Formats: sequence, C-alpha cells, structure tokens
Amino acid sequence: MRYSALSLLLNGLTGNRNWAPAWREPEPKSHYDVVIVGGGGHGLATAYYLAKVFGVRNVAVLEKGYLGSGNIGRNTTIIRSNYLLPGNNPFYELSMKLWEGLEQDFNFNAMVSQRGVLNLYHSDAQQDAYTRRGNAMRLHGVDAELLDREAVRAKLPFLDFDNARFPIQGGLLQRRGGTVRHDAVAWGYARGADSHGVDVIQHCEVTGIRREGGRAVGVETTRGFIGCNKLALAAAGHSSQVAAMAGLKLPLESHVLQAFVSEGLKPFIDCVVTFGAGHFYVSQSDKGGLVFGGDIDGYNSYAQRGNLATVEHVAEAGKAMIPALSRVRVLRSWGGVMDMSMDGSPIIDRVHLDNLYLNSGWCYGGFKATPASGYCFAHLIARDEPHETAREMRLDRFARGYLIDEKGQGAQPNLH
Ligand SMILES: Cc1cc2nc3c(=O)[nH]c(=O)nc-3n(C[C@H](O)[C@H](O)[C@H](O)COP(=O)(O)OP(=O)(O)OC[C@H]3O[C@@H](n4cnc5c(N)ncnc54)[C@H](O)[C@@H]3O)c2cc1C
Repeated sequence: MRYSALSLLLNGLTGNRNWAPAWREPEPKSHYDVVIVGGGGHGLATAYYLAKVFGVRNVAVLEKGYLGSGNIGRNTTIIRSNYLLPGNNPFYELSMKLWEGLEQDFNFNAMVSQRGVLNLYHSDAQQDAYTRRGNAMRLHGVDAELLDREAVRAKLPFLDFDNARFPIQGGLLQRRGGTVRHDAVAWGYARGADSHGVDVIQHCEVTGIRREGGRAVGVETTRGFIGCNKLALAAAGHSSQVAAMAGLKLPLESHVLQAFVSEGLKPFIDCVVTFGAGHFYVSQSDKGGLVFGGDIDGYNSYAQRGNLATVEHVAEAGKAMIPALSRVRVLRSWGGVMDMSMDGSPIIDRVHLDNLYLNSGWCYGGFKATPASGYCFAHLIARDEPHETAREMRLDRFARGYLIDEKGQGAQPNLH
C-alpha cells in the first residue's frame, strides 16, 4: 500500500478499517542469501538498501525483541553532520543527504525536521576549536555558521549568557541538522524492506553462530537453525556478545546512556542546542516536551536504565545553561546500551570469517548515521568492497594505530 493524501482521505472516510499492516510477520525460512542479526535502525536500513539498491532480496532481519525496542527507539533523535575528521565527515554528510530524501524514498512520514543544531562555546579556545571545525565542514561542502553572542541571544534569549563560570560567547550552527522521529525510522525501513521481499522476523534471538571451514553457515536461534550465504551483525549495544558467538573479541565496551523528557510546554526552543562547558543537550518535541540528555553513565552495563549520579549531573549542566529549567517537571527517563568503541568511531567491515560482516561501535551517535550506515554496510555485503565514505571504518585500525579520534581524547570509550 502506498501512503498518500488520497489514501489518508479514503481510509479516514471508511473508519480507518482498511489499512494494510505495514509489514508481514513471516515464518523464518531454512536458508537466506543474507541474514542480518539485529532489527534496529542499522539492521533494517541495511536490509532496505540491500534489497532496493543492490538487488539482494533473499534477506532476513532477525530481531530478538520487537522492532524499536533497542536504541533506535531510545535515542534523542538528533541528526547532524558537523564532523571534523576526513574519516568521518563524508560519511555523516552522506547520511544527512539520505535523511533529506528519506521520507519520499521509503514513502513514510519520519518527521524529518531540519531545525538546526547549535553548539555553544564559552571561551576563546573553544571558539578557535569550533571555527576550525566549521572550516573543515565547509571545506567538505557541509553547511556551518559561526554565531557570535548577540546572534545566539537573538535566537535563544533565555540562555544564561552571563553565567559567572560559563559565559556564552557564541555558537557553531549547522542549519541542516535537526531531529527525526526515531521509531518512525525503524518502521519506515521495516516497511520498505518488507515491500522489497525482505523477511523481518521479530522475537527471534540469535543464540549461536555455526561455523564450518572458516565460514559462517548460519545461526542458531530461538526459532531454530537458519542457514545463510552471508552473515551480517548489527546488534549495537550487544555487538560484543553476538561477535563472541563467532569467536571474535571486539574493542568495544557497553555503557548505559540515559535520556529524559519533560512535561509538555509551549514552543520555546526551535533548534537543538548543546552546552559547551558540560555534557547537556536539549530540543523540544512536537508535543512540547523537552527532550534532553548528557553523558554516559561511567560503568559497563547491559541494563537499559541508568543511575542517579548522572541524572544529577545532567540537571546541573542543564540549569547552568537554561536557569528556567529548574521549574520544569521531568516526565520520563530511560536508558540504552551503547557499543562504545575505543576512539568513539564506528566499525563497518568484513571480519575474520570469509562471509561475516560487522557493523558496530556507534557509541551515542549512531542514530544520525542510520541511513549511511545501512547504505554502506549493504554496499560492503553485496559487493565485498567498502563504500568510499566508509573506507576508514575498519576493525584493524585499532591494531594499526590509525584511530578516527574525532574528540582527540585518546583510546578510552568513556571519554568519547
Ligand atoms: C538515550 C540515548 C540517546 C541517544 N541519542 C542519540 C542522538 O540524539 N543522535 C544519534 O545520532 N544517536 C543517538 N543515540 C545512539 C543511537 O541510538 C545508537 O547509536 C543507534 O541507534 C544504534 O544502532 P541501532 O539503531 O541499529 O541499534 P538498536 O536499535 O539497539 O538495534 C540493535 C538490535 O539488535 C538486537 N539484538 C541484540 N542481540 C541480538 C541477538 N542475539 N539476536 C537478535 N537480535 C539481537 C537488539 O534487540 C536491538 O533491537 C542515543 C542512544 C541512547 C540510548
């Protein structure tokens, strides 16, 4: 079924009883050309582009829970391509371009909203760093504007410009950045992949990887053995566990990241804004809730909930940036499990078995990467050749010492 204004009208007039399900609920087949482990944003996008762009349609996506139960449905929905390093910038800009055409491409309303992402700076040194980043972006053809203090004040007058410790001097703005409704991205890709023949199989946990002669021949699952010619792992926060089933130890740590949403307020923040003197960022959803978050909880965990010390830290940083936040009531908070890599950058690579492909290490920035990650991973799986924008996202960079250390913080996951 194609969604359109006409289909909306006709279904509205018939009591909304005739909508077709957005995707099928197929029984797993005994064998596929490609099996993808993980029905998050990245796994579903990979399946979609494999089928639509590369013509590989005999594909299954195996998801242990329901679609959207992982980080794709837990993130704070921010998209941007304001990266500094050549190993990252073209990739994230490809993602931004795919976001810009995504809703027309998969015929689904994902509420892509290019409302702008503004990173505040609070010192001369930070201004220099943001100027450098903005220049690098512009050299790569990405939009970037450096705003002075008065330009920021005109946009967001309620910020604490004269905070004695963290006075706001200006900000780096990417106008094409913004937000996208996260779970609609999972649904849109699932529906798109399904319409090209992909089997999206929910409640099917992979419990083992069967290997023969240097190849993965299939996966053991809670719904039986499923064979495959190629096996692709896209399990995000559980990447280390799934890769271990194939005898692979990854340079990743799993950490919790929390997010928060407030009661609904009248519109007052019309972009995404990040604090430069601590870890805090906020945007306002279409329902009026402030959606905000901060740093990861500083310990390894697979629990999808966080700890109070980080809640306090986020509240402090938020209040230092927007004093009025102290009067806002928080409605909900939740956590997701991050696959933190040693340099903060992802891995898209073919690994130690001939037909095993790995997509992981997204840390807390993988939502914005979803379209490019799916596209580049599909390219790698279909052609056994990395896509030109993802060439540096190799697993062996950690052994070779060629890190993509965007933050320049060194090889420590908790610092990225
Ligand atoms: C609170 C929070 C805020 C964030 N904010 C942002 C943001 O604003 N912008 C941004 O760019 N990024 C953000 N992120 C990061 C982003 O959400 C992740 O990097 C990205 O979603 C990870 O890729 P995914 O969508 O494929 O992951 P997931 O949705 O987690 O998909 C992985 C899937 O694999 C499944 N799985 C795991 N093990 C198995 C198994 N054995 N068998 C079968 N299935 C399995 C899981 O159930 C899961 O559904 C945020 C994350 C969190 C938690």
